[in-house]
Amino acid sequence: MQMYDLPDARGHFGPYGGVFVAETLIRALDELREQYARFRSDPDFIAEFDDELEHYVGRPSPIYHARRWSGILGGAQLYFKREDLNHTGAHKINNCIGQALLAKRLGKPRIIAETGAGQHGVAAATVAARFGMQCVVYMGSEDIKRQAQNVFRMKLLGAEVVPVESGSRTLKDALNEAMRDWVTNVENTFYIIGTVAGPHPYPMMVRDFQSVIGKECLWQMPKMIGRQPDVIIACVGGGSNAMGIFYPYLAHEDIRLVGVEAAGEGIATGRHSASLGAGRPGVLHGNRTYLLQNEDGQILETHSVSAGLDYPGVGPEHAWLKDLGRAEYVSITDELALKAFGECCRIEGIIPALESAHALAYAAQIAPTLPREKVLLVNLSGRGDKDMNTVAERTGMKL
Ligand SMILES: *Cc1c(COP(=O)(O)O)cnc(C)c1O
Repeated sequence: MQMYDLPDARGHFGPYGGVFVAETLIRALDELREQYARFRSDPDFIAEFDDELEHYVGRPSPIYHARRWSGILGGAQLYFKREDLNHTGAHKINNCIGQALLAKRLGKPRIIAETGAGQHGVAAATVAARFGMQCVVYMGSEDIKRQAQNVFRMKLLGAEVVPVESGSRTLKDALNEAMRDWVTNVENTFYIIGTVAGPHPYPMMVRDFQSVIGKECLWQMPKMIGRQPDVIIACVGGGSNAMGIFYPYLAHEDIRLVGVEAAGEGIATGRHSASLGAGRPGVLHGNRTYLLQNEDGQILETHSVSAGLDYPGVGPEHAWLKDLGRAEYVSITDELALKAFGECCRIEGIIPALESAHALAYAAQIAPTLPREKVLLVNLSGRGDKDMNTVAERTGMKL
């Protein structure tokens, strides 16, 4: 694990990560770093985190053998890590529980969050309700239109949803606005970042909380099939569900780790969100990582059928794993993701999130090329209830 025991004390994963923020935030980040360093190994904190995951989130999430689909594909066996069965329908709640418990210990009664698909907003609003905290969620007005149901859910949960009208009115703009709020209200406010991005210690902290996914797989797979899987596949937006399942497996060098980005309408069209596949290093949202940017360093607009993958950056640890060659990064188009979405619904009786459908599509693509004994473990990061409008629109059906 030595080589992967990162980040260093200043938050670097090789040349990536770090702390690129306004001076006004340095103190808050220092405090967060010190407190997290203390609590991450505090038995009471860990016990409370585990207890919430078991009784509130419903962990451990099961692993499921997709026998019918595997049979039809005629090659390697597909297994799903069922993060879609978590309370609130995705992996994001794991991280939100962890950060809310930290906020509580730091004495911050107000939570802010940014959201794209709305899943992180819902998870943040959920934990705020659960722990009796005030919650403000920043969301691009374009995303608010695309994800009306999740906006309604956040409101039901007692959160205030603030529309962001700047830029492309999506996730990156919501992130900027949340940072601005944090600078202003840092005394009483805890900023819950929803993925493995942002300034140190966020990428590390979010990875640690999400690592419960991979830690469970480490004991579940041998129990189920007598060994570990051959390939682990996860979709990558900011990269938190992927980091969560990859991290405990980094030292298992013989297991292939594959991150699947959104190729949108195709990499060549420029309408995609494949930061690792088609971007280059730069600084955004407090850290250095691969970004989709033009020659002048201006952030490009991204596109994906899944709002949750629609982000021009990616967590810095993925950037480093890519350079090291420890993980591979591929991309899947909207069209292939929608096809896999439909197949998963009809063949397995599971309606996956469109984000997760990207990972499924890649698994379905390589399974037929591999022998039947090979095992592909796909992180099914979330359920598709939130995507009904998008799918209906894209497939020409009426709700
Ligand atoms: C938000 C989301 C993602 C993308 O975020 P990561 O940080 O890359 O995991 C993927 N799947 C689902 C279901 C999501 O809600």
